[in-house]
Amino acid sequence: MNPTSPVCRECGKEPTMLRGDGRVVNGRCNACMGRLLRAGKSRILNSAVRIRFLEEPDLLEQLRHLARSEYRTLEAQILYTLRKGLEEDSTE
Ligand SMILES: [Zn+2]
Repeated sequence: MNPTSPVCRECGKEPTMLRGDGRVVNGRCNACMGRLLRAGKSRILNSAVRIRFLEEPDLLEQLRHLARSEYRTLEAQILYTLRKGLEEDSTE
């Protein structure tokens, strides 16, 4: 433990992580950083859906084509198309 390292701004107990040269990394201790990283990872995993286009290969091809012509990533195109579809549904 380094006696000169400041206390973690997350838990206020443990010393912060330090770089090799003794500079503070991000003001958090090892345990808090690990906890925050795990929470972030599970939030990302919980917001993801895996879609299989096995039964709808034409749909995937259409989305790919649209994405290319609109300069969007495939993911952005799928989100855009979904949102547009939902908005059209709600105005019918
Ligand atoms: Zn901490």
